[in-house]
Amino acid sequence: MAETTDVAIIGGGAAGCAVAYYLAQSGVRSTIIERDGLGNQASGYSAGGLNPLTGIGIPGPLGAFGWECFQLHIRLYDSLKEQSGIDYQHRTVAKLDLALLESEVSGLKASSALFEGVEGFDAHWLEQEEIAKLEPRISPDVLGGLYDYGNNAVDSHNLTEAFAAAAEKMGSTVRAGNVKSLEGSGGKIDRVILADGEISCGQVVLAMGPWSRRAEAWLGVYIPVDPLKGEIIRLENNGEPFKHDIAGGGGTIYPKLDGLNWCGTTEDWKGFDREPSEQVAREIRQRVVRLVPDLADAKLSKHTACLRPVTPDWLPVLGRAPGWDNVYLATGAGKKGILLATGIGKSVADLMTAGETTLSIQGCAPERFATQLD
Ligand SMILES: Cc1cc2nc3c(=O)[nH]c(=O)nc-3n(C[C@H](O)[C@H](O)[C@H](O)COP(=O)(O)OP(=O)(O)OC[C@H]3O[C@@H](n4cnc5c(N)ncnc54)[C@H](O)[C@@H]3O)c2cc1C
Repeated sequence: MAETTDVAIIGGGAAGCAVAYYLAQSGVRSTIIERDGLGNQASGYSAGGLNPLTGIGIPGPLGAFGWECFQLHIRLYDSLKEQSGIDYQHRTVAKLDLALLESEVSGLKASSALFEGVEGFDAHWLEQEEIAKLEPRISPDVLGGLYDYGNNAVDSHNLTEAFAAAAEKMGSTVRAGNVKSLEGSGGKIDRVILADGEISCGQVVLAMGPWSRRAEAWLGVYIPVDPLKGEIIRLENNGEPFKHDIAGGGGTIYPKLDGLNWCGTTEDWKGFDREPSEQVAREIRQRVVRLVPDLADAKLSKHTACLRPVTPDWLPVLGRAPGWDNVYLATGAGKKGILLATGIGKSVADLMTAGETTLSIQGCAPERFATQLD
């Protein structure tokens, strides 16, 4: 019998699974089609930070949407954990942003203004001696640092699985499959063509992350999403777990609940290269050893590389594909795709079910790029 679905969601990363979840909350069943396993690309190997106050476009065009996504995450945790049966370890974190050079001190002190008056956040400058009391293994060479509290973090692989599992419990489906093209006419797609068959569908959501440009040929629509490679090394602890995220000099240490220190992260435009590089691992280690000398001989437990989906203006691409009645884009979240997953899922589901959303996605419309390709 021919396979059919109301909504075919192509891509089982955080974006696709979040759309499936919010659609299911509105009573719409979907099929997530994923070729590499759920959350096995960037959504499974990100640092999992949900920082709504800093990053490209924040403050700025992504600020309001980022804050809404952050609030959605906070409100979602208990119910999604319960619905899915998966604890994705949403928690509040504190960070020490360290100055290694005199020239960095004033900028870091000034950045405390970003946190001022923001509910749930706090930031203040600490001298070297105060930092040594909080984290004695931090290098005595640091000149001080900004302590900030209030950011949240999750296990992004488990978050992705939780969205999908909850959607499945509400009647949606996850299907392994490699989508090769879309077929349809008159502004409507009615079939998804896979390597091993085809699925008839009422609507389509493209959530293919850094591979989204593949759909340009299927739709004749410009979808400028490019891959930005990022690597993370996981170092074992030589002692007690760190109590803070630690950053400075281009290195960051995220102590995770798996007991490992996730260290990174890098940004390289290398096409679709996903090979972890030993040279990059050495560079990351050099950077974090300047912050915590003990990490020089910490055992390397795991090293991953994956690809962020980045648009020319660093804003995601959300909404109906120009020229198509039943095709939606949910992609391009760049370095913020775990933070933005809630808002991507909710806004796209809102547009599909109600034709509008209250979330601040005005700058994210697919039409902002050249519309139809020849
Ligand atoms: C090192 C690193 C650290 C990061 N840290 C953070 C962080 O701290 N906070 C944060 O918010 N963000 C972070 N990010 C960014 C975040 O991980 C991404 O923005 C997010 O995961 C993108 O999700 P996605 O679902 O759009 O893409 P993906 O996770 O790439 O998912 C897309 C899926 O589509 C599937 N797919 C593609 N084409 C097809 C096809 N033809 N058929 C079937 N399936 C297909 C792929 O297999 C993939 O699973 C980080 C990223 C990296 C690389």
